[in-house]
Amino acid sequence: MEIVRTVTELRQRLEPVRAKGRVGLVPTMGAFHEGHLSLMRRARAECTAVVVSLFVNPAQFGPHEDLERYPRNLAADCAFAENEGVDLLFAPPVDEVYPAGFRTYVDVEGLTERLCGAERSGHFRGVATVVTKLLCMVLPDRSYFGEKDYQQLQVIRRLARDLNLPGEIVSCPIVREPDELAMSSRNRYLTPAERVSARAVPRAWQAVRACFAAGERAPDALLDVARRVLEAEPGIRVNYVELVDAVDLTPIARVTAPALLALAAFVGKTRLIDNTVLCPEQVEAAPEERST
Ligand code: AMP
Repeated sequence: MEIVRTVTELRQRLEPVRAKGRVGLVPTMGAFHEGHLSLMRRARAECTAVVVSLFVNPAQFGPHEDLERYPRNLAADCAFAENEGVDLLFAPPVDEVYPAGFRTYVDVEGLTERLCGAERSGHFRGVATVVTKLLCMVLPDRSYFGEKDYQQLQVIRRLARDLNLPGEIVSCPIVREPDELAMSSRNRYLTPAERVSARAVPRAWQAVRACFAAGERAPDALLDVARRVLEAEPGIRVNYVELVDAVDLTPIARVTAPALLALAAFVGKTRLIDNTVLCPEQVEAAPEERST
């Protein structure tokens, strides 16, 4: 595996590969865990050359967020990426991505105004800008994103379509700890007691799924179930719990099409997000009906 720091080097290395086959890109902020590695594995299985970008993007952090203390460990990350058969690790310094005088940002309207966008002003503008830049730098045939950041995935799909950016956007399922907590680089901020409290996050969506499987289709009733589970855990402060259309993320009156249950909660100072998609057809059909 080679580590490259500049866009010029990156393009030089990729030039000969393009003619031979498919280039895959996995954008990350580092501090790798199994979630990141699952994206790398998928890219490795599907592409000729795999590029992983590692860039803690200042533009997506708010002034009071955790940019300074965000976990960084290049040596460990290199070992993980190498082990997954990654070809190029693109780890640019901040001024390679945002040179002096940088003034151009990408704003995806609508989709970014809800859920995390409403809570983290400017966050998706930073994400959309850096992902647009990475797609332009690498020109991948496929790029890989996790469903853990579901809203981010929808924002990226939209910007890629609206700006005619190249390649296919591939989504990958959420990788979870054995107790179902979604893996996240931020989980390492949690104290042992907070880690126990954090289990209420997956418990909340599991309770909603059970209620949904029993036939409940009213958003208020389903959301109440999630809130009750979260509010019963004293170590948790709910940031938002919402049930929205799974494609355009708009509010729904009843679950008649795939719906996204999205949760964000603070455990101590750490903000965790999670989600699950409720699909009416799958749940209503008995397993034997589905398999025929
Ligand atoms: P990050 O380094 O947090 O920006 O994440 C880089 C990529 O990994 C994004 O596409 C995330 O959605 C994805 N990712 C992070 N955590 C997980 C997870 N637990 N399961 C699947 N994908 C994940």
